[in-house]
Amino acid sequence: MFGYIDFFSAEIEKLKERGGYRTFLEVARMAGEFPAALKHGPGDGRRISVWCSNDYLGMGQHPLVLAAMKQAVDETGAGSGGSRNISGNHRYHVELERELADLHGMESALIFPSGYVANDAALTVLAGRLPGCVVFSDELNHASMIAGIRHSGAEKHVFRHNDMEHLEELLAGTDPALPKIIALESVYSMESDVAPLERVAELARTYNAFTYLDEVHAVGMYGPHGAGKAAELGLDGRFDVVQGTLAKAFGTAGGYVAGPAAVVDAIRSFASAFIFTTSLPPAVAAGALAAVRHLKRSDQERKQLQAKAGLLQELLRERGIPVVSEAAHIVPVLIGDAVKCREVASELLERHGYYVQPINAPSVPTGSERLRVTPTPQHSEDEIVGFARALDGVWERAGLPRRLAGALA
Ligand code: PMP
Repeated sequence: MFGYIDFFSAEIEKLKERGGYRTFLEVARMAGEFPAALKHGPGDGRRISVWCSNDYLGMGQHPLVLAAMKQAVDETGAGSGGSRNISGNHRYHVELERELADLHGMESALIFPSGYVANDAALTVLAGRLPGCVVFSDELNHASMIAGIRHSGAEKHVFRHNDMEHLEELLAGTDPALPKIIALESVYSMESDVAPLERVAELARTYNAFTYLDEVHAVGMYGPHGAGKAAELGLDGRFDVVQGTLAKAFGTAGGYVAGPAAVVDAIRSFASAFIFTTSLPPAVAAGALAAVRHLKRSDQERKQLQAKAGLLQELLRERGIPVVSEAAHIVPVLIGDAVKCREVASELLERHGYYVQPINAPSVPTGSERLRVTPTPQHSEDEIVGFARALDGVWERAGLPRRLAGALA
């Protein structure tokens, strides 16, 4: 007889032996106090400061967003009551989609329960329905894009991260008659680097490829009105589909795609992960709508984010603490060893009350373990200085190497 429970227990044991088993810290966010939070656990309730949140602009606690959500709960109740097709299409969903289409200067937008589902659903349909489609995917693309491409069944070529010569070589080696999709991100969150978007758009034009751009780590934070990196670089309109999340800069939950009406309509009509699932709670859509509208009007949060990230980057540079890239607002501190990475994170938390989740394999390759630090507008300058000093001390005690002045990791 097959021992089902024993089988999964053994799988978990193997994962633990590989050092890949995850435990979650219990973090109680406190509305209005971000980045402060309470760390719960045995005998705990300690006040900590969060340095690894994707609530990049603190919009998850913005008074306008909270007010919109409270009002929508009072007005509409908790859940949406169904899928978009069966009674779950609320005016907040429709308004949010209109607002997102407008943000990206696209004809149409479609929201999903998460950014993960948006990528999986959209790429499954786009690459799956185009006959003989070949997908060109950056090697560091997020798991949700990889899942969508896999679910589409399309042939896939992986190009080296941001390597446009490699992408061109692969495009040139593919039958010109076949439909092609280039799938990439604008800001890569583990690296904090930016794709050469202009070159991608040129290559797409030359080889008649369709472009699918994940702007999850850019929407709300870059470009006029927060439309993302492509918009910031004056490349709006050069990418066929832009995908984003409502869970990071927009502080709530959900994901979306924006693009030409016929393409978005095809995703709406054919994507199982859109059709057969309950729509977002209307109050979540209302909160996201408030965040998108606010960040369209206000540049303040974007400017503060850049200033705070710049300050931390400068303080770490002065101390020779290696950072993978300084091209975007995320500050990935390279440690390069899984055990040391956990030790540094643990000391920052236990001694100083700074919470940064260590990032180990398989999220990043073995040997490039890192702390993915995300300063936000809500981290004060004093706190940033305090964090840099604390990291400096922990770095010294751990005997970690410093890099030469001026060099990046
Ligand atoms: N794309 C990228 C590049 C991501 O990093 C993530 C999540 N971290 C997602 C998509 C999924 O977004 P969500 O959290 O809204 O599911």
